[in-house]
Amino acid sequence: MFVTHLPKIFFYPKPKIIITSALLSKSKTTPLSHFSSVTSAANTLLQQTPDLQIKNLEIEHVQEKPHFEISVEKLFFPPDTDVSSGSRPLSSRILKGSNIVLSKYAGDAQVEQAEFVKSSVETEECPSDGLPEFALVGRSNVGKSSLLNSLVRRKKLALTSKKPGKTQCINHFRINNSWHLVDLPGYGYAAAPHEVRTDWAKFTKDYFLNRPNLVSVFLLIDASIPAKRIDLEYASWLGENKIPMTIVFTKCDKRKKKKNGGKRPEENLQDFLELIKKFFQTAPPWIMTSSVTNQGRDEILLHMSQLRNYWLKH
Ligand code: GDP
Repeated sequence: MFVTHLPKIFFYPKPKIIITSALLSKSKTTPLSHFSSVTSAANTLLQQTPDLQIKNLEIEHVQEKPHFEISVEKLFFPPDTDVSSGSRPLSSRILKGSNIVLSKYAGDAQVEQAEFVKSSVETEECPSDGLPEFALVGRSNVGKSSLLNSLVRRKKLALTSKKPGKTQCINHFRINNSWHLVDLPGYGYAAAPHEVRTDWAKFTKDYFLNRPNLVSVFLLIDASIPAKRIDLEYASWLGENKIPMTIVFTKCDKRKKKKNGGKRPEENLQDFLELIKKFFQTAPPWIMTSSVTNQGRDEILLHMSQLRNYWLKH
């Protein structure tokens, strides 16, 4: 049983998924605490695809206790996902702290080499080597530089994007000589002059719409605070324009007490997903991260690998 015909756009149109009770461990909902080791899940999947290998992935088990449950309709199935996958329950193939199901394309998730390539002020100037790329974007201060550094395990790589003159550019980093991470300008910076903000909106939208090797946008949302209008607008624009997108919830280590109306990251996350759901035909993939604890780092890389490997083969 396969999720059918999802070409380069990963969550449109709505996939036809038939889930039988045997595929789920217990009920229609999957407590996060039931998620098992990504390594074993991924390796089992990889037995079907000997050309892909996950090296030295050390990923621990998930949450200490379940914070909320995810129903099957809210899971993200990458294209060409074998939902039944032998005897393994679906719950053991979901990346921890996310709604993302692992597919047989997951592999090559290690970052062995990362280098800054160039800064571009418009889409036409971007590297023309055709390598698949993932763009990181988010509101200023969302933790984008911290996440980029954490993904490549380099303390200061993202500083390149923060140098004067480069903050409003499309900054390309080449990973393992085979794909790009792209750092886009942070949006919503109140102090930025109006012309700069308008320009930014124009050229990043142009990049999203006209970059054929853009595999997915990774939209960063701060999970330690309630949803901001500008983030909702951004997510809805991407959804309405059918730009493949993964939502990365940042700062999930910031566990505020509920006093003063402060919400926990999982609650802010659920509120955000609820507010944007009408802009998407099927649930977009999302993942919880922290650059302080490195939560979600290996999972993002594994998710990127499955999107990338599928993209390369189609
Ligand atoms: P950028 O403007 O989006 O590049 O954000 P930065 O990466 O520079 O981070 C902005 C601020 O948030 C800095 O003070 C970081 O130390 C802090 N920060 C970033 N990521 C995290 C995180 O995962 N957890 C916590 N607690 N703080 C973070």
